Amino acid sequence: MSTPPSSALPDSVRREASGACLTVDLGAVQENYRRLGAEAKGAEVAACVKADAYGLGLSQVAPALLEAGCQTFFVAEPLEGAALRTLAPRADIYVLDGFFTPAAALYRDYALRPVLATRMQIEDWLAFTGDAGLLPAGLHFDTGINRLGLSAAEVDWLLQDAEVKARLDIRLVMSHLACAEETESPLNAAQLARFRDCRAAFPEAKASLCNTAGVFLGPDYHFDLVRPGVGLYGGNPMHGRRESPFQPVAHVAARVLQVREIAKGETVGYGATFTAPSPRRIATLAAGYGDGIFRRVGGDKPQAEVVISGRRAPMVGRVSMDLITVDVTGLPEEAVKAGMMAEILGAALTVDHLATAAGTIGYEVLTRLGNRYHRSYKTTEPETARGADQAAVSAKDH
Ligand SMILES: *Cc1c(COP(=O)(O)O)cnc(C)c1O
Repeated sequence: MSTPPSSALPDSVRREASGACLTVDLGAVQENYRRLGAEAKGAEVAACVKADAYGLGLSQVAPALLEAGCQTFFVAEPLEGAALRTLAPRADIYVLDGFFTPAAALYRDYALRPVLATRMQIEDWLAFTGDAGLLPAGLHFDTGINRLGLSAAEVDWLLQDAEVKARLDIRLVMSHLACAEETESPLNAAQLARFRDCRAAFPEAKASLCNTAGVFLGPDYHFDLVRPGVGLYGGNPMHGRRESPFQPVAHVAARVLQVREIAKGETVGYGATFTAPSPRRIATLAAGYGDGIFRRVGGDKPQAEVVISGRRAPMVGRVSMDLITVDVTGLPEEAVKAGMMAEILGAALTVDHLATAAGTIGYEVLTRLGNRYHRSYKTTEPETARGADQAAVSAKDH
């Protein structure tokens, strides 16, 4: 069975039939794009849309970014690039993983630009373009993260081989910072200096060093093009070191399935990890680790919370695959009833809040949200742009 039967149902029915909803605010993505443009001043703002736009849906996010003026995109893999090409016929699309010969036809047919990251990739690319003709590409220099990119020795090889250089059409040179969110790290300046040396050999190409956090290191780091990801999606690139400059994009709400009273000494959930210190009221919500609400939230980490009827309540007991339990003792009875929706992510509870409770980062929260949610995409009507009061919820399905 390739198509789930639910796809035949009207959206309103599917929404009601879903325990949890994910609403992606595309207007906020656009606002965050503009915020990055203001911070990076003269530099072009590209967008990293790998991993299905950080889990939020490439098919919806890419058009919103195009509308905001984005013309250059980064994906990790060639198939992601091919999917993006159908949405963005004229954009420059760079593939961060580089070039793989078995996928060569994709790069040509979808006009994807590999960001060549090793000597082997360069040689494979030359073997391919030797037949296919000169095609544009990028180069990735590793200036100190020791993860992906040409090593110092490979850069030497490339710069000394004039014939190889002449057979490449390099449009972008880039490197990636290891500690961009740690403004005081000496590695930032060291990588900047090494990147300046490398890019000098390719003065015609656009140069790019910054992810979201890098943009906030200041103009020395901006070069021609910045390539943020997480900030577009409302994550705090500074991981709690300072307040996020971005608007939340992912809004998650889960239905209250049941509310129960438990006596002092009773326990909640698998493993009986929570023991009621006094009579408590517990609400059970229809979302769990199957929806990317990490099983490891709680424990000795700062406690995760939800918001019901505008009030916060802590998660207690283990998160299970489909269910979360919340201590709502402090909330008035009428504020928590079966059928109500509880906010798990949103304006009050950011991806970084949940990430901190799970001992991870906002990126992982976003990319783990998964496919079970009822998804909707909120767009800002052009005539009321920025007047968030009239935002329309469109029922475009994921
Ligand atoms: C994912 C990625 C980015 C975007 O990083 P954010 O921290 O999400 O802004 C930029 N450059 C490279 C090489 C990446 O892999």
